Amino acid sequence: MYSIGIDIGGTNTDMGLVRNDGTIIARSTIPTNAYTELQPYIHDIMDCIAKLMKDNNVEKIEGIGIGAPNGNFYTGCVDNAPNLTIKGVLNFEQEMHKYMDVPVVLSNDANAAAYGEMVYGGAKDLDNFIMFTLGTGVGSGIVLDGKLVHGSTGGAGELGHCILVPNGRQCSCGRKGCLETYTSARGIVQTYCEQLRENGKPIPENIDSKAIGDLANQGDPIALKTWEIVANQLGLAMANSVTFSAPQAIFLMGGPTKVGDPLLKPLQKAFDKYLLNIFAGSCQIRMSQLKANEVAILGAAALIKMKK
Ligand SMILES: [Zn+2]
Repeated sequence: MYSIGIDIGGTNTDMGLVRNDGTIIARSTIPTNAYTELQPYIHDIMDCIAKLMKDNNVEKIEGIGIGAPNGNFYTGCVDNAPNLTIKGVLNFEQEMHKYMDVPVVLSNDANAAAYGEMVYGGAKDLDNFIMFTLGTGVGSGIVLDGKLVHGSTGGAGELGHCILVPNGRQCSCGRKGCLETYTSARGIVQTYCEQLRENGKPIPENIDSKAIGDLANQGDPIALKTWEIVANQLGLAMANSVTFSAPQAIFLMGGPTKVGDPLLKPLQKAFDKYLLNIFAGSCQIRMSQLKANEVAILGAAALIKMKK
């Protein structure tokens, strides 16, 4: 059996035809920001899906799963996503049903990543885990008792917006001091620049978290200190998240997690230090087993395995 996974980003919409074993058979992309209306956008997406199916001799699909900013599992809508050029509450499910009578399931991208890990990745044998995604932002998806947690609004699992430092750094959500402002790619760069300033060093012009990772792996003390600070902040947030869900594992994915030991070693230490003692040894820190360039499509495709 096959399904379609769609990853909606502010710039591009990536689609993939996914076989039941988690193989992406074929892909297609359209520019999201070329559209300001939902109908022509959905029309072109459905065109791509029809072509993907025809080119690969697939006559039937199980459904269409969509990972989107503010994707609402309950309503099948994308609710006022700030980074999309198509504004308002967008009823994807209803619009897609005009073309194809298959289940259409939406959730936000971090939830999709968590579910993808459960269906196709390293969490196949787990019923309780949390996924933290580190990138431009910090997202999370929570799986409890084998089910992805949606909550009353469909928006559960926003651990990136737990306030870590009251009145701390300005966050894109309008509040201050969220975890995201410290452990996203941009937050890490900001911490590195603060460390440079404190040590009286010049601030380089175009530095990113990947470069800070490379520096740390070459033994640069300020870069290493930066990752230690980040690990302490992330470890605190992760340990706190264990108290409400008792997960068997916390998975990490995203660019900044690729740095390896400079993050992971102090992260394990911080996590152990902050963890409530009754949970000691019960929760592992693991890396996502899905490929970075596949997780968004696989996660979206996995959503249709979930019953509404
Ligand atoms: Zn925030």
